[in-house]
Amino acid sequence: MTPAVPKFFIQTFGCQMNEHDSFRMSEILKHCGFEATDCPSQADVILINTCSVRRNPQNKVFSLLGQLRRLKKSRPNLIIGVAGCVAQQEGENILRCERAVDMVFGPDHYFRLPEILERVRKGERVVLTNRTDDIYERVDNFIPDNWLEAGHVEGCKAYVVIMKGCNNFCAFCVVPHTRGREVCREPQNILREIKTAVEKGAKEVWLLGQNVNSYRAHGMTFYNLLDEVSQIDGLLRVRFTSSHPKDWDNTLSDLMAERPTICNQLHLPLQSGSNRILDLMNRRHTIEEYLEKIRYLKNRLHDIELSTDIIVGFPTETEEDFEATLRVLEEVRYSQVFSFKYSPRPNTRAAEMPDDIPQKVKEERLQRLIHLQEKINGEQIQSYIGTVQSVLIDGSHLRDSRIKNGRTEGYRPVKIRDAGLKVGDLVNVRITGFENHWLEGVLQ
Ligand code: SF4
Repeated sequence: MTPAVPKFFIQTFGCQMNEHDSFRMSEILKHCGFEATDCPSQADVILINTCSVRRNPQNKVFSLLGQLRRLKKSRPNLIIGVAGCVAQQEGENILRCERAVDMVFGPDHYFRLPEILERVRKGERVVLTNRTDDIYERVDNFIPDNWLEAGHVEGCKAYVVIMKGCNNFCAFCVVPHTRGREVCREPQNILREIKTAVEKGAKEVWLLGQNVNSYRAHGMTFYNLLDEVSQIDGLLRVRFTSSHPKDWDNTLSDLMAERPTICNQLHLPLQSGSNRILDLMNRRHTIEEYLEKIRYLKNRLHDIELSTDIIVGFPTETEEDFEATLRVLEEVRYSQVFSFKYSPRPNTRAAEMPDDIPQKVKEERLQRLIHLQEKINGEQIQSYIGTVQSVLIDGSHLRDSRIKNGRTEGYRPVKIRDAGLKVGDLVNVRITGFENHWLEGVLQ
């Protein structure tokens, strides 16, 4: 009888960087002979890839670990690991609080998964949270070629990390503490990974990093890298995230306007529309500077779609500060706003400030902001009707395979009724209507 193939299950919280790290971990586990499963009760190894940017996802991790404790009681050989930013932040504490956990490792250590599993099998409980800024050197040079060649391609999209960490120390943010300082990958490794992904069928690439505008390696800036990537043969679309407003440069807007492959889409986190709050947040730019950059960009790219992050209820935020944020929403007219109530995060400068905005006020401001954004987005969606959009097909509708899903350049989701389309097709679509946030259209 052939022995059963061991299975793994990964639960991911947080950002695209975490999604990417989970993808890498699953590649490593597959390379070690594991098979993925969607069902935790069938897994031999369960990994929780965590996010500590906000308090809620962190709380969810601990409640999930409580459930897994019961699973481990019935299957004592089950290996449970906590990876990512909560692991980096809490380290040893997780092992102390949760007996069921066997391994805890920060984002710099996922490539050591085979060695960590080996140590756990020998009876050790492993914690790895020291900083290793040579992670990309390891990923690019020490992992066997076929692991890297695999790249992170999903359908027609490739996700490529260009840098990690952040040097900005925004007052509310744990990233510099959990992901460490900025480390950039070598440009030739990034370009090689993208070209390989394109050979494997990728049509769109996402350049990922906590602060991509800070990219600098071997004399190349983010501008130079984006310029080169945008000219790779066979690549139809380039997107990138996240950008910091203080590092956004009008020359990048010019490049976006000049290169048809760079999508008309930008995520530029605002956080607050009040200069006083921006200063307390240590964002190091004013609202006037932010708006000036946006106006320049809109002038160069009339159909640019913008998205942002907003925190409501930061310490000392007054009604006047909050209304300044609402005014920016009205002026910029974002297509998407990721809005959150402020919660203090460990080791951050803001955690030393009094969290003095009552929950009720935070909630009320959040609802007003969501309401305004829904109104703006409703008007924007309506204005698409009758227009022709370039759409990259990226999948089928879950319940009806005759309906194909795709994205406009501005990253709006579109449904098209045409069974002949396949993933990776770039087509012109006339928009005929919408349902919630989805545009609907027919082939032009
Ligand atoms: S720029 Fe600020 S918010 Fe963004 S990752 Fe760095 S510290 Fe965090």
